[in-house]
Amino acid sequence: MRVLIVEDERKTADYLRQGLTEQGCTVDVAHDGIDGQHLAVHYDFDVIVLDAMLPGLDGFEVLRSLRAVKGTPVIMLTARDGVEDRVKGLQGGADDYLVKPFSFIELLARLQALTRRGRAQEPTLLRVGDLQVDLIGRKAHRGGQRIDLTAKEFALVALLARRQGEILSKTTIAELVWDMHFDSNTNVVEVAIKRLRGKIDAPFAQPLLHTIRGMGYVLEERGGH
Ligand code: CA
Repeated sequence: MRVLIVEDERKTADYLRQGLTEQGCTVDVAHDGIDGQHLAVHYDFDVIVLDAMLPGLDGFEVLRSLRAVKGTPVIMLTARDGVEDRVKGLQGGADDYLVKPFSFIELLARLQALTRRGRAQEPTLLRVGDLQVDLIGRKAHRGGQRIDLTAKEFALVALLARRQGEILSKTTIAELVWDMHFDSNTNVVEVAIKRLRGKIDAPFAQPLLHTIRGMGYVLEERGGH
């Protein structure tokens, strides 16, 4: 589960980051509303923990920008006496809220409930031409043939299939699959793409994974072959 925490109180942010990392989550933290808005809008998270009172932009403004482009589940953190904040948050499109101080166990349970809800709306079997990517079973088939993939290769093909037809840059792929900021000296993405191509395309007549020179990669079925 990939989580974004937008919280200006360092102690709370560090505590949440540590707790969620221990639970196996991948965690990004923003300490103000401007960074939070940038990350929330431009990157994909399974869920966002958003403090209401933030420097820069407040949580409601961050939520408004996010809701203009996508429906990532959001849980807002509000002050004990912040009834108006809670109403404003829910009306602004927050999915849930927690009143500070809260217990970590409760936050975790609510995050899990929200991401389950989110996942139910996402198709679990993606098709690109005759390639099938089963997000629940974490398996891929092409032309009825099982394709043996490593965990990273599966994450890569799942990302490309989710966003089929869209050119994904190496930077985007490195951040979303490897959770690293792309270092142009490493060729980890190129190597993985090459290996994936060897498995999903090489044995078949029609290529699905295309390189767009200078831009990135796209997974799509192209006609006219
Ligand atoms: Ca705050």
